[in-house]
Amino acid sequence: VTERVARVRGELERLGIASLLVTDAANVRYLTGLSSSNAAVIVGADKLLLLTDGRYIEAARAVDGVEAVLAERDLPAWLGQGLPRLAEAPVGFEADVLTVAAHESVAASGIALVPTKRVVKGIRAVKEPAELETMRRASRITHDVVTRIAQERLTGRTEAEVAWWVERALRDAGAQAVAFDVIVASGPNAAVPHHRPGPRPIGPGETVIVDLGARLDGYSSDCTRTFATGPLPEALREAYATCRAAQESALAAVRPGASGRDVDAVARAEVAEAGHTVLHGLGHGVGLEIHELPVLSDVSDDVLAVGNVVTVEPGVYVPGLGGVRIEDEVVVTDGPAEILTPFPKDLVELT
Ligand code: ZN
Ligand code: ZN
Repeated sequence: VTERVARVRGELERLGIASLLVTDAANVRYLTGLSSSNAAVIVGADKLLLLTDGRYIEAARAVDGVEAVLAERDLPAWLGQGLPRLAEAPVGFEADVLTVAAHESVAASGIALVPTKRVVKGIRAVKEPAELETMRRASRITHDVVTRIAQERLTGRTEAEVAWWVERALRDAGAQAVAFDVIVASGPNAAVPHHRPGPRPIGPGETVIVDLGARLDGYSSDCTRTFATGPLPEALREAYATCRAAQESALAAVRPGASGRDVDAVARAEVAEAGHTVLHGLGHGVGLEIHELPVLSDVSDDVLAVGNVVTVEPGVYVPGLGGVRIEDEVVVTDGPAEILTPFPKDLVELT
């Protein structure tokens, strides 16, 4: 924790601020270990305050190296009174987190506020060895469940039933929660990237996209595989081959120094070349949140660094017929990316 706070302190001068007010829940957890729906951290050159209401104050007092401060339930309004006594000005705030209304409340204190972006999120993007260890364990749970799905009969079951089966399998395999709502998309629904599993019975000769992740000790995992329920029509076999090849090419492009745009472009070009419309960016960072930095997309200037954990998940969608998405979660290293989701990517035909 001290190391992480030191890295934030190292940014204060560059940002032209004397203190940073951290209100993002994942950032608060990252800096203090406190998991709370209503807490804030103030990082100054030589102070570290953890503010929260009565529901979390005992947990806050148990955190080593921070000064716990009992605040009121309405934190922004409370800061609107008390911030000048707690923080040295100017105070940076998280412009991509604090709502306009909360900012207005805090600003009522009269203290100088400076917008900042991606300060703690940027630090979080590079994982420490212990974080990587937790993420490997979270990914192993996902891998175990994908392995089980590949032995299931899917035809005749509804998407919603399969999604619930997957969710239970994740919990049985050791997940403390699902990282996000499990996606099961079959037939024409598989052409919709973020389809919500519904009452549609899975038919024969379709693609079924299953996108799942486990939460473990605060960290998420994320993996997608696309299965076939028996032999596929030619258009979907082609879609699978295109997606698979694009995914492998993009994986090979994941290296330190590459930008999110560079890596995205590799898959995007291959998918477009095959005549398909690209419906979403290639991938995203994973960690305490399921979507974090760095971003792999056609508008991302993020530059990959050793220790980043990102997904590589191109999709090929054939409107009205089906779709394919293959997603691996990988660690950026000096060599080839370390794959956390090693389930094979040859097309698996289930019944
Ligand atoms: Zn996913
Ligand atoms: Zn993902």
